[in-house]
Amino acid sequence: MTPEQFRHAGRRTIDWIAHYLETIERHPVLSRVAPGEIRRRLPPRAPERGEPFDAILQDLDDVILPGITHWQSPNFFAYFPANASPPAILGDLVSSGLGVQGMLWATSPACTELETHVLDWLVDLLDLPDRFKSDGAGAGGGVIQDTASSASLCALLAARERATGFQTNETGVDRALTAYTSTQAHSSLEKAAGIAGIGRRNLRPIEVDAAQAMRPDALERAIAADRRAGRTPCFVCATVGTTASTAIDPVPAIAEVCRRYGVWLHVDAAHAGSAALCPELRWIHAGVEHADSYCFNPHKWMLTNFDCDCFYVADRAALISTFSVTPEYLRNPATESGTVFDYRDWQVPLGRRFRALKLWFVIRQYGAEGLRAHIRRHVALAQEFAGWVAADDRFELAAPVPLNLVCFRHVGGDPANQRLLDELNGSGSLYLTHARLDGRLVLRLAIGGTFTERRHVAGAWQLIRDRAGAAAA
Ligand code: PLP
Repeated sequence: MTPEQFRHAGRRTIDWIAHYLETIERHPVLSRVAPGEIRRRLPPRAPERGEPFDAILQDLDDVILPGITHWQSPNFFAYFPANASPPAILGDLVSSGLGVQGMLWATSPACTELETHVLDWLVDLLDLPDRFKSDGAGAGGGVIQDTASSASLCALLAARERATGFQTNETGVDRALTAYTSTQAHSSLEKAAGIAGIGRRNLRPIEVDAAQAMRPDALERAIAADRRAGRTPCFVCATVGTTASTAIDPVPAIAEVCRRYGVWLHVDAAHAGSAALCPELRWIHAGVEHADSYCFNPHKWMLTNFDCDCFYVADRAALISTFSVTPEYLRNPATESGTVFDYRDWQVPLGRRFRALKLWFVIRQYGAEGLRAHIRRHVALAQEFAGWVAADDRFELAAPVPLNLVCFRHVGGDPANQRLLDELNGSGSLYLTHARLDGRLVLRLAIGGTFTERRHVAGAWQLIRDRAGAAAA
């Protein structure tokens, strides 16, 4: 492809994306293809000769789009959002254009320094503790991970190393380590405990209260029992905004338990963290100033295309000691000078994309004001929706609604709720997912789409009410 052909194809591709976003509501939100259907539409073998670019774009429409579940649809209310935005798309495109691999400061200084700088900006924007800043008085710092799952794994590995005098990387796990999180924590913690060699069984599920938040007294009892049994408690993960219902664990009390027992505290605010852009919602971060590490995902609720998780540590030396391995071919004067960050030492893989660009584009395009408006709009819509649910005696709220997720159910019981969910998602007009709270099925309506307006939420409620009768029958 010549530069001129690239320009032409690039313009056509941007036009294709713009048209897709403009007309996204025409598609059924949830893809309707059967397993294997997309592969059957693809030729069995890769083309021997290059094809015209137009043929590729045509197949996006004909082959790929039918197999897309439209995460950017304003009627996508499932899981948590993965909201994209035009500036993030362009930032990502520039990242691809530069084709940089930023494993070391020296492999592209701007890749590292922009990341450090933007993550410090976000400490201010979310009013996070200063000790998470790379240029603060403390010894902390922030780094972009692909996902919150990776951030939690990194935190757990660093906690394991700190608890074992930074020996486990060398010797392998040689003692009974334990970790703790609530029964409502994300499944990535279980995965991480297995990968870290701690063992999934040694990740203690701590019970929750009526609001689905971790009980600090139960946490303390579990840690004390493990200590008495000769085990080494090394890691607690508190969740700010649980996956099922956005419950907020009591971080101040949990932090106090961690302090007493010398255990690493990680705070997973994957979805909810972005809410702290708004001063009136910063209560969600009470106690985070005592955490050893913290993460939130701009790729969920801050207009930044997947993947982008911001991971902060109070003591970057612990993280670097956990991950640093320097083969000869990576040696360079900048690293040796000790004056630069090499982010390969802050993560599991060696290589890394220039993800900070899309964050930088987003923050500059919307400004703090625009980002706050985005959060406030969704929180207000969720509160309004919760009011509609509460006022209809066929439905009930299933959990508190602190932010932008409404958990609700039909009073007719699990079978009625399952039928209602299937009907709604089968309609193509919206997409909701479910959770189980206290053993009962609940429907989750997460409002966080870049393009979601009041009319979409009102439309969803109308559809839910219309289908409620049939579901209960
Ligand atoms: N933590 C929480 C609280 C989540 O809700 C999720 C996903 O929804 C995750 C972690 C995992 O996020 P990621 O896909 O970034 O690993």
